[in-house]
Amino acid sequence: MASITLDNVVKTYPDGFTAVKGVSLDIADGEFVILVGPSGCGKSTLLRMIVGLEDISDGELRIADEVVNDKAPRDRDLAMVFQNYALYPHLTVYENIAFPLRLAKGEYTDEQIDERVREASRLLELDEHLERKPANLSGGQRQRVAMGRAIVRRAKAFLFDEPLSNLDAKLRGQMRTEIARLQRNLATTTVYVTHDQTEAMTLGDRVAVLRRGELQQVASPRGLYDQPINLFVAGFIGSPPMNFLPGIVEGDVLRLPIVDVPMDERMRAAVGDREVVIVGIRPDAFEDVDTMEPDRADAGVRLEVDVDVTEWLGEVLYAYIPFETHEAVQAQLEELDRDLDGEGMRTQLIISLDAASTVRAGDPA
Ligand code: ATP
Repeated sequence: MASITLDNVVKTYPDGFTAVKGVSLDIADGEFVILVGPSGCGKSTLLRMIVGLEDISDGELRIADEVVNDKAPRDRDLAMVFQNYALYPHLTVYENIAFPLRLAKGEYTDEQIDERVREASRLLELDEHLERKPANLSGGQRQRVAMGRAIVRRAKAFLFDEPLSNLDAKLRGQMRTEIARLQRNLATTTVYVTHDQTEAMTLGDRVAVLRRGELQQVASPRGLYDQPINLFVAGFIGSPPMNFLPGIVEGDVLRLPIVDVPMDERMRAAVGDREVVIVGIRPDAFEDVDTMEPDRADAGVRLEVDVDVTEWLGEVLYAYIPFETHEAVQAQLEELDRDLDGEGMRTQLIISLDAASTVRAGDPA
C-alpha cells in the first residue's frame, strides 16, 4: 500500500492542448479519493498519468514517496480497473483473475496463484463461476472479475476509471456498495474517476472536483456540499443542483426575486461590502409550511410562492417555482398537502438559509 502525491502535475498533449494544468493532490495511504468533474475536465488523463499510460509533461508524481514520473506502468505496481473491464474472452474467470500473476513469470508458484485467485473470488463471490467464460457472465459479474484481477496482484493502489458506467442503475447501486465494502476491507489506496453524483458523494473519503484541467476543491463529501469553495463546485455537487438567484443588498436586507431575506451575521460576512451577489439555495433548503413540524416554523425565511409544476418521486416531491426573469427555482419537499389543479397554486414555504446555502459574487457559469 502507498500514498500517491501529485505535485503541480501538468499534461500537454502532442497537439498542444493542455488537459491538466498544474494539479497538486496528496492521497494518503489507504485513502479512497474520487475525481469528479464535467466531461473533458481531465479526470481520465490524470488517472492515466498516475498509472503510467500517459507521460507527465511537467510536475512530479510520487508513489510511496518515490518519484515515478519515468517509471514504466508495470513497475509502478498499481492496478487499474476500466469501464469496459478489458477481460480476455477466451479465458475462464479463473484464468482471467490469475492473468496478472502468470504475467509476472516465475514470481508465483501454481499453488500461490491458486490461493490468491480463490481468496479474491471468495471476496467477490465469484467462487461458483470460476470455470465460466466472460461471455457467460452478467455485467456485474464481469466487473467483479475485473476487480479480482486488481486484487490478486496486491497492488499498492487501485485506480478505477468509471468502472460502473456500463451497468444498469440497479446493478450500479449493488456494485457501488461492493466496492465500498471491498475498499474498506482491503484498505488499499484508491483513486476513482466518475461523473456520477451518487458515486462521488457516497464512495470516497474525499472528493476532488476538477474543471478544465484545474483542481477546484478537495474535501469530504459533506464539506463539498456544505461549504463549496466557488459557484462551480456549488452548482456541480448536489442533485438536483443548487438554485442560483441574483441578490441585491439593501442595508440589512438581501432582496431575492422570491423573497426579502433579513441577513444574519453569517450572511453579512459572506456578502461583505458587495451590493450585488449570487445566492445559492439547495432544493432541500425549502420546506412546506403546511406539512412541517410546528417547532420548525421559525427555522427560516417564510415566503409565499406560486408553484406551476410538481414531480412526485415517492420519497420526495419537486416543486417548480417559476419566474419571469430566469429559470424556475426547484424546491424539494417531503410532500405537498394539496394537488395541483392544472392552474398552479400558491403555497407558503420556508427556506432555511443555513450551511448548505451559499452567497458569492460572480458568475455561476
Ligand atoms: P470524460 O468524463 O468525458 O471521460 P475526462 O474528464 O475524463 O472526460 P479526459 O479524457 O481526461 O477528460 O480529457 C481531457 C481533455 O483532453 C479533453 O478536452 C480531451 O478532448 C483532451 N484529450 C484527451 N486525449 C487527448 C489526446 N490524445 N490529444 C489531445 N487532446 C486529448
